[in-house]
Amino acid sequence: MQRKDFIIVGQGIAGTLLAEALLRRGCSVILFDGRPEIPAASEYAGGILHAGVGKDLSIDPFLKQCLGVSISTYRSLEGRYQTECFTEQSMLLFKEGHGLAVVDEGLQQRLQHLFHTIHPPTLFQPVFQLDVVRFLLAARQCLIHEHVLQEEVLDPEKLDVGNDGVAYSKFEAERIIFCEGVSAMRSRYFGRLPFIKNRGDVLQLHIPDLPSGYVYEKEVRLVARANATWWCGSNHQWVYNHLNPDTTWREHVLHQLKGWLKVPFEITDHTVAERPTTAGQFPLIGMHPAYHRVGILNGLGTRGLTLAPWYAEHFAALLCGEIHEIPGYNHARFLKALQDS
Ligand SMILES: Cc1cc2nc3c(=O)[nH]c(=O)nc-3n(C[C@H](O)[C@H](O)[C@H](O)COP(=O)(O)OP(=O)(O)OC[C@H]3O[C@@H](n4cnc5c(N)ncnc54)[C@H](O)[C@@H]3O)c2cc1C
Repeated sequence: MQRKDFIIVGQGIAGTLLAEALLRRGCSVILFDGRPEIPAASEYAGGILHAGVGKDLSIDPFLKQCLGVSISTYRSLEGRYQTECFTEQSMLLFKEGHGLAVVDEGLQQRLQHLFHTIHPPTLFQPVFQLDVVRFLLAARQCLIHEHVLQEEVLDPEKLDVGNDGVAYSKFEAERIIFCEGVSAMRSRYFGRLPFIKNRGDVLQLHIPDLPSGYVYEKEVRLVARANATWWCGSNHQWVYNHLNPDTTWREHVLHQLKGWLKVPFEITDHTVAERPTTAGQFPLIGMHPAYHRVGILNGLGTRGLTLAPWYAEHFAALLCGEIHEIPGYNHARFLKALQDS
């Protein structure tokens, strides 16, 4: 048997950042992820981080704090993983009614060659972009190399949970933390928490003549990827019973894009993923009151990339006894949700 401080289940953004925060504190960690059949939400995300809320994108003070932690976390992990995947961007909004500053005339003129516009676009900053696929891949390679990541699906049925610790396969650990995204809806420990189903369709576009360096947003958002490829999304569907691409949505977006873009584009892929979301959009973080060796970091919802660094960092501090509560987190609500379930 190999002894560890923590077993973590899931190498999406939550599991990766929690593992890193614990490793930095000197804890020993074994992280399981074998990419089960459900697509990891993190890999389908547009990858946009900002602190704006509502139609007018007014700055939310808590999200601003989270964004600050995100910037330092992702930049420092870029260094550790020797990759470049976190960039500052500007978001150009092609819609009315948010009271933001209109772009200068020079940019307006350049945009007129690219877009059909009635009103001059407005600018929102600061916005950051994490190339999540590249980030998670670099993390994966580093953590495999350091013998932290086990490329294997953890079968919860084979998990032995006792009063003094947990055991799985050849590992014994003080605690296990589930960061398994939407798979948690089927969890024997946390499955009855108030998750709600939420799926999003994403198109991959090839737009060779659209300059990167901006995130463009009208009814849909366009986010640059490598080689003139663009992430285009997304919708929110709450009622569904499959994860097949929604062709009606695709046709609708195609129609919108034709009315917006002047430059040629081509749809090269259409994918779907589910967001680990909860009723009321509150994250699920903590140890199970009945199984006190079993914990969860989940429910990060539509802003997972901005929230994950904050919550992973503070949850690790809590687990290591450095703090008694996670700032900005309603732990009583989490406990009540578990008790009510
Ligand atoms: C279309 C779309 C667009 C989005 N856009 C944005 C955006 O622009 N900005 C933003 O901040 N957020 C965005 N989000 C939300 C964001 O993606 C999520 O909040 C975040 O990725 C959740 O991360 P997670 O680690 O909790 O879950 P996931 O990323 O789903 O990770 C869970 C991991 O657990 C693994 N796993 C599950 N069960 C097991 C098991 N038994 N054993 C081993 N491994 C297991 C899975 O393989 C997976 O890798 C978007 C989501 C979607 C779907």
